[in-house]
Amino acid sequence: MIYDQILVRYGEISTKGRNRGLFVDKLRENVQYVLRDFPGIKIKANRDRMYITLNGEKLDEVCTRLKNVFGIQSFSPVVRVNKDMELIKESSLKLFQKLHAQGKTFKVQARRADKEFPYHSDEMNNLLGGHLLQNIEGLTVDVHHPDLELKVEVRKDAVYLTCEVIKGAGGLPVGSSGKAMLMLSGGIDSPVAGYMAMRRGLLLEGVHFYSPPFTSERSKQKVIDLGKKLAGVNGQFILHIVPFTEIQQLIYEKVHENYAMTIMRRMMLRITDEIRERQEGLAIVTGESLGQVASQTLDSMFTINEVTNTPIIRPLISMDKTDIIKIAEDIDTLEISNRPYEDCCTIFTPAQPKTKPKRDKANQYETHFDFEPLLQKAVNHIETIKLSSQEENQQNVFADLF
Ligand code: ATP
Ligand code: MG
Repeated sequence: MIYDQILVRYGEISTKGRNRGLFVDKLRENVQYVLRDFPGIKIKANRDRMYITLNGEKLDEVCTRLKNVFGIQSFSPVVRVNKDMELIKESSLKLFQKLHAQGKTFKVQARRADKEFPYHSDEMNNLLGGHLLQNIEGLTVDVHHPDLELKVEVRKDAVYLTCEVIKGAGGLPVGSSGKAMLMLSGGIDSPVAGYMAMRRGLLLEGVHFYSPPFTSERSKQKVIDLGKKLAGVNGQFILHIVPFTEIQQLIYEKVHENYAMTIMRRMMLRITDEIRERQEGLAIVTGESLGQVASQTLDSMFTINEVTNTPIIRPLISMDKTDIIKIAEDIDTLEISNRPYEDCCTIFTPAQPKTKPKRDKANQYETHFDFEPLLQKAVNHIETIKLSSQEENQQNVFADLF
């Protein structure tokens, strides 16, 4: 193997002032978690950089996992060398001999983070460049568009050599912004919203409403598969599945068809908020996008939102469907979301849902029946599963959580 370590550069973490320690700890925890099945790996993190020592573990597989971890700006497989110019020359040559192909151009880009190191960046560029030119036949310099760029980073503890910079997922480490509940349907939007919220550092638990026998096992499985995809971001994802049939049937019995969807959404939001409180989250995330459908007009949101003052985060609010679909493709949820099984909302969708429902009317309909016992019953029969991006680790944790 050419490289023995991976150097990780932080994203926005670096600008977080006093909170920096917390952000670095979270990132380290998350990296440790996604790499947990590589026993040889050792992780060291300081204020500016994280170093992952491979100890023989497979570089490609580790890199694939790291690409999904939020809070990483970029990372590079590196060779670590003691701060001795002769050793740096020798290791650079060894690295280049392995990576270089005939007729390639190159450039050296040295950076001296440790200003006490006796060679300036330019001096290092010249010394190392000259050494490579002398020892490798057919190599030429191209400072503007080199095929290979040798990056040399001089830090306090050592010098790091690399020819690769891999782009990270950006954002903030999951969990560094707190916890929220994601209302997860089987559609295209909510998994994308979840992904975007996680990217800003939210730790999410999913809440899904299903209505058997009107919705099939396969539609539930679809949501579980979406949850597993989201687990890919951070290693695991907790999903609360709420039985919603009785409440939905009662709504359609007691509430005028035009208001049924509005009331149904209010019930969903009440239950989600109750789960949020139990799970000690501080917000609710949805896949709503302004004007997309009847329940997502501003009037609808105003009336539905009345039932809680918990912050509702809507990452997709201003996005067009085509752009949302593009992200769904990128994060590999589109194919799952496009499976044709029915969702509880689509089955009960009235022909003419109100696009401008009013709060007082919604409140009035809700006095037609005492929904509270049914809400409590639904909450008491929630099935909670812990999903892992690796199938075999899936387990029911119902007992642990409630
Ligand atoms: P999606 O593609 O996410 O299903 P949508 O465009 O179909 O969204 P709606 O059906 O109006 O829009 O749902 C709006 C939001 O309400 C969803 O993004 C999701 O956050 C939440 N939601 C809808 N149905 C459910 C459900 N069965 N369980 C949990 N949350 C739901
Ligand atoms: Mg939907």
